[in-house]
Amino acid sequence: MTRLAFATHNAHKVGEVWAILAPIVAGLERTDVASARDLGAPAPVEDGVTFSENALIKARALARATGLPAIADDSGIAVDVMGGAPGIFSALWSGRHGADSDNLDLLLAQMADIRDPHRGAAFVCAAALVTPDGREVVTIGQMRGRLARVPSGEHGFGYDPIFIADGQAASNAELSPAAKNAISHRGAAFRALAPHVRDAIGP
Ligand code: IMP
Repeated sequence: MTRLAFATHNAHKVGEVWAILAPIVAGLERTDVASARDLGAPAPVEDGVTFSENALIKARALARATGLPAIADDSGIAVDVMGGAPGIFSALWSGRHGADSDNLDLLLAQMADIRDPHRGAAFVCAAALVTPDGREVVTIGQMRGRLARVPSGEHGFGYDPIFIADGQAASNAELSPAAKNAISHRGAAFRALAPHVRDAIGP
């Protein structure tokens, strides 16, 4: 039976976030979590100007549509020398939503003349929980690192092939999914949200 709704249309992401929550939310089964697509809920317009606002917009809309506690996330990459861009525009940086390799190529080209000491960046994720009775919580996770000059690795998505997290010798796309979860912005945000999810869905 569905106990928690997740504002995503990506089934892979449901499994990934469930794996992060499950060790903290006792008894949460994979089948307890349903995506907005599974539940037939429409996607709202994401017109917030921060990761937190957009995560809340998605969680509020889903809680309202389903009557269930709802979680959502919004994330992106923030490059220091670019003043935090692409930020909330990460998914459509090259002009087309979700064109991952075009987005990555454009960012590498924009950073071509920037020397190594100035290539710092962070992945940022806001995770939101909204309950049908109006409780709202947002948590933020960050993963600091630097931009590589050439893509490497086959795992992950988005900007993973050009991001080397602090303390790692390889790009995010060369890490196993479990190793990335352990250090990722999404992992940190949802681990911080997990106790609130446990309170919201009850035993
Ligand atoms: P969303 O929050 O899933 O919509 O992600 C926004 C965009 O940020 C994605 O399309 C990616 O370009 C980028 N992004 C967010 N998280 C990651 C990550 O873990 N790895 C690589 N790219 C990411």
